[in-house]
Amino acid sequence: DEQWRIDKWLAAAGVGSRKDVKKLLRKKEIQVNGATITDASVKLNAYIDTVTMNGEEIHYDPGPIYLMMNKRKGRVSATADDRHRTVLDDIDQKDKRKELFPVGRLDKDTTGLLFLTTDGEWAHRLTAPRLGIEKEYEALLDARPRPEELQALREGLQLNDGTETKPAKVSEGAREEAEFRLLITVTEGKYHQVKRMFGAIGRQVNALKRVRMSNVQLDERLEAGEYRPLTANEFEAIA
Ligand code: URA
Repeated sequence: DEQWRIDKWLAAAGVGSRKDVKKLLRKKEIQVNGATITDASVKLNAYIDTVTMNGEEIHYDPGPIYLMMNKRKGRVSATADDRHRTVLDDIDQKDKRKELFPVGRLDKDTTGLLFLTTDGEWAHRLTAPRLGIEKEYEALLDARPRPEELQALREGLQLNDGTETKPAKVSEGAREEAEFRLLITVTEGKYHQVKRMFGAIGRQVNALKRVRMSNVQLDERLEAGEYRPLTANEFEAIA
């Protein structure tokens, strides 16, 4: 939670003890976004609000944040877009922060596991191609692939532009009404990778959902567009 009591925040920022801080507030020396605050219990957003003491800004960075989101359909994995809403539009005001960005990309119509962070180094470790971390997707296909087609995905195949893919793990899958559902795990992140891999065997992906990255599974309790901080265990598992 990025909501802080002003007195706690000022003390954490090194302005003084809680007692010193109360005195400063009483003497009308503290402003939040330009408005003088005297009530020590006033809440502020550590990442959005500007706190000043007699007009001079107090800087305090309480550290990076790490979020897990169940991306909803129709959102672009970017911080800004001319035409479409982005995943940041699903972030509550209280969690907003200038530096927050999505880790890697999911297509606009892809759902599921997406991390957001302010920690550029951490994001880089998760997305660096040479580290090849696993990304697992649940794909809904137009029809059941033949065994030799699944085998081609497992061995690595050639996309229509000539790129060779690395071997993927592919589950046996199951028919589901008119469609066919399976799990595919890739270690690459080329543009439209999974859709193009199925395209190469003549199948169409009707829905795609990321369910795992590295050792962290999507929390299925998160509804589309919802998010929560990573737990300490998840952070350890992935870092
Ligand atoms: N592969 C795709 O084709 N799309 C995604 O969003 C992710 C992987």
